[in-house]
Amino acid sequence: MGFKSDIEIAQEATLKDIREIGKKLGLSEDDLELYGKYKAKVDYNLLKRETGKKAKLILVTAINPTPAGEGKTTTTIGVADALSKIGKNVLVALREPSLGPVFGVKGGAAGGGYAQVVPMEDINLHFTGDFHAIGAANNLLAAMLDNHIYQGNALGIDTRKITWRRAMDMNDRQLRFITDGLGGSTNGVPREDGFDITVASEVMAVFCLASDIIDLKERLGRIIVAYTRDSKPITAKDLNAHGAMAALLKDALKPNLVQTLEGTPAFIHGGPFANIAHGCNSVTATKMAMHFADYVVTEAGFGADLGAEKFLDIKCRMAGLEPNAVVIVATVRALKYNGGVPKADLGNENLEALEKGLPNLLKHVENITKVFGLPAVVAINRFPLDTEAELELVRTKCKELGVNVALSEVWAKGGEGGVELANEVLRLIESGEKNFQFCYDVNMSIKDKIKAIATKVYGADGVNFTAAAEKEIKTLTDLGFDKTPICMAKTQYSLTDDQTKLGRPTGFTITVRQVKISAGAGFVVALTGEIMTMPGLPKVPSAEKIDVDAAGKIAGLF
Ligand code: ADP
Ligand code: MG
Repeated sequence: MGFKSDIEIAQEATLKDIREIGKKLGLSEDDLELYGKYKAKVDYNLLKRETGKKAKLILVTAINPTPAGEGKTTTTIGVADALSKIGKNVLVALREPSLGPVFGVKGGAAGGGYAQVVPMEDINLHFTGDFHAIGAANNLLAAMLDNHIYQGNALGIDTRKITWRRAMDMNDRQLRFITDGLGGSTNGVPREDGFDITVASEVMAVFCLASDIIDLKERLGRIIVAYTRDSKPITAKDLNAHGAMAALLKDALKPNLVQTLEGTPAFIHGGPFANIAHGCNSVTATKMAMHFADYVVTEAGFGADLGAEKFLDIKCRMAGLEPNAVVIVATVRALKYNGGVPKADLGNENLEALEKGLPNLLKHVENITKVFGLPAVVAINRFPLDTEAELELVRTKCKELGVNVALSEVWAKGGEGGVELANEVLRLIESGEKNFQFCYDVNMSIKDKIKAIATKVYGADGVNFTAAAEKEIKTLTDLGFDKTPICMAKTQYSLTDDQTKLGRPTGFTITVRQVKISAGAGFVVALTGEIMTMPGLPKVPSAEKIDVDAAGKIAGLF
């Protein structure tokens, strides 16, 4: 359509030396562990250095999206660039992309248009090796578990009750279910096994929630890998694996410093799944960012019903964080989609459908402002095909209903296109009007916590628990795992557990089919549908378009 691709825009940029970016944060060359000229790790021990700073935290979330994504990452980067532009000292905190989506359907995850983090090729491919380290820690635990069984199984592990799986950062459905340990008595003990994508590993969730290396080690030790014949949990600590796992992660745990296209510093660190895990960058990166800047802009994965809820109820609760303002990204196409327009017709003006989709946005606004008590602004992320009439309709309707709203053109214009939004965010922060509360008290029963989320945040009438889920809840309660936050696994496309129910549905219930403990991460996962922990590649994977030339220049990476 005549637009430059993300990678073309990124490759035209002149990057600043990362030491210059560090300087903006008061970090000297000695404080940086350089990974080439444009990437550096920053030691978490610098959290102990007095900076006198405690940044304002801005959370970016979204309405229920279309399958293409509505631009949360893009908006996060753009609003940070806009804040830089108006003279603020800002840091972006984002997740690291996984190779699975990069080679699959979604493509890169480093923003888009003129709101990107760079070097985007590195960030999207390998980066500083954190995910490999996380995969290695996951697989060390798997190897030690099977070795323990092979060497006599002193712990009495029931090989049919092994919950730990192997991990790899790739979309590879072939490895979902495998049989291993074949080849006779010297080659291991045959059993059913399988791989998850690394971002779905509990090691990733643990890594992202750990407050420091010691907390990381303790959390790793609590990971449950299997059960004995009489259903007693076996942990990584029982296998003496947690020390070596933490050793493998010692450098990975240091946040990665890069820059936006406009030279705003950015920490890109960790990247847990947004369904079976909490879906936001590491606590270390957020805390470090808040320690070195005055404003930190961060993103929570999926729509606000899932991503922001988990960001607030899990991450903020565990890390003692509290956002000062929330940006809810809405797009004309997602509003039309929620108003019933099929994917193929989203490019056509349709004011009626747009208006029909608005209740979805309003529910998310209510959740942030009323359920969680935080100030919110709707950012209309402008797409090239949006018409003036459509943009105006969203703006007028929001204003009529007393909802703060700003147009965001950061994709097309960079920070310049986000100044209206940034000023609105600053106004919200300065008004100081917030009354933050969690959606539920962590000491409530597992069922009551799930009901609180479903009724307050999703707008459900109630929750059904399958017989299997009831049984698991009883077991977890008996084991003492009932006083943890809940990590909901649900479709991101609907406020319900049925992705075809768009808009703002009423009169529905949520069905919880399975409940499991992530003891290391410290949450109970409630699954409302079939959740894939090892995705597959589509018919034509993005990988087919990616290439590299003789000079080492990469093409086709979106
Ligand atoms: P999310 O973080 O919500 O999944 P992203 O920011 O990654 O969304 O954006 C998803 C895709 O949409 C990216 O390819 C991005 O380049 C594109 N995109 C985002 N905002 C716009 C926009 N305003 N116009 C055109 N494309 C956009
Ligand atoms: Mg994103």
